[in-house]
Amino acid sequence: MIRVTENLALINDLLALAAVEANRGPTSIRLLAVSKKQPVEKILAAAAAGQVDFGENFVQEGLAKMARTRSENLIWHFIGHLQTNKTRVVAENFDWIHTIDNAKTARRLSDQRPAALGALNVCLQVNVDNEEGKSGVGVDKLAELAATCAELPNLALRGLMCLPAVRTEFDDQRAPFKKLRVLADTLRARGIALDTLSMGMSEDYRAAIYEGATIVRLGTAVFGERMSG
Ligand SMILES: *Cc1c(COP(=O)(O)O)cnc(C)c1O
Repeated sequence: MIRVTENLALINDLLALAAVEANRGPTSIRLLAVSKKQPVEKILAAAAAGQVDFGENFVQEGLAKMARTRSENLIWHFIGHLQTNKTRVVAENFDWIHTIDNAKTARRLSDQRPAALGALNVCLQVNVDNEEGKSGVGVDKLAELAATCAELPNLALRGLMCLPAVRTEFDDQRAPFKKLRVLADTLRARGIALDTLSMGMSEDYRAAIYEGATIVRLGTAVFGERMSG
């Protein structure tokens, strides 16, 4: 448990360092602690150390953790693949979703969002490497989806997210993140306001920060290895 506290302190220093190296403000990066398949005790330890944003990939697992951390005022991000029959649970319980890739899901989430919660913050997941069978809207369909989401009353379109194919070299890692940044710039030029690039994980967050990430999603770097199953 003490490890989570130490990991967080180290990671926050590394994020600030990478930001400064990339000529960005040291506090310009928001750390999303990906707590999927991690015990709730580690979430509580992270919260005690000041971590606010947590990411979950599975709806029921996320709900169970929210129920056990109510008093902490945490911000919950859904970052997994969302089946259309589970949209209501996300609309009613999460603060953000990073993985919208089709208009049907977007419309359902907007329809099902309780007014009292305010708009659901959303990022569109883009299949930047054009990988077959991978989640994410195709680059060719992104502008249309963004325009649709920008009009939906109970969604706040915040930005783009990607989960690129694994690359090991720093310069190679930058390429898909650069692509996402350019896509966001293109949408902004068309009048769609975006303030978020959700990109970078434990192995490639530095490259993502160099390319403008505003949210990095780190799991193992914060919590250690995940439980299996
Ligand atoms: C699991 C996951 C992460 C975190 O991965 P790590 O390699 O543990 O940092 C980030 N984003 C998404 C979408 C994930 O599913």
